[in-house]
Amino acid sequence: MSEAQSANAGKQILLHVCCGPCAEWPVVSLKDENYEITAFFYNPNIHPDVERKRRRDNAAALMDIYGISFLVDEAYMEDVWHAKAWESGYASRCEMCYSIRMLRVAQEAKNLGIPSFTTSLLVSPYQNHEAVIAAAQEAAKATGVTFVYRDYRPGYREGQKMAREHGLYRQKYCGCILSLEESVYRDTIYRSFPGSEGDTSNVL
Ligand code: SF4
Repeated sequence: MSEAQSANAGKQILLHVCCGPCAEWPVVSLKDENYEITAFFYNPNIHPDVERKRRRDNAAALMDIYGISFLVDEAYMEDVWHAKAWESGYASRCEMCYSIRMLRVAQEAKNLGIPSFTTSLLVSPYQNHEAVIAAAQEAAKATGVTFVYRDYRPGYREGQKMAREHGLYRQKYCGCILSLEESVYRDTIYRSFPGSEGDTSNVL
């Protein structure tokens, strides 16, 4: 066991999980660091709700594989994105999105008595990495819970490969309604929603 692994033995961390595939590499890495992980799914940005639930269920399946306890906040905030709430107070919709999620995650860690948190958002080369860090640091400052920063991006491809091997659903858009509408896979995505019956316009 390395010095770092000994130092982390028994240390608890709350891992914010944006989805199963992105969580796989951080889970493997944090386990390798000897952290005791609790996973927390809180993504009110994901629209529509059937998609949020699909990602939630796949994240739950991943945690089952690794024997990690999995907590969920079922909040769903479509109205906030429809209202473009970021225009008052944030530089961009993504900065608002990270801020909402990181603050809630840090607060949950505090409520649970878990001294640190991190997020699977740090694995994706498609996220604004610096803005995720800034939001997490703000949340840490506001709550007194330590933000554990790791750059998981070098493990992104490997994590996705593992997720594929585990049969996890891998989405084709970031999450919010705008990212869905902007996706080149828009129509395919709409058709994939349970209950859409092939309709590409009225699921939301
Ligand atoms: S694009 Fe992704 S990170 Fe940005 S607001 Fe939408 S869901 Fe959030």
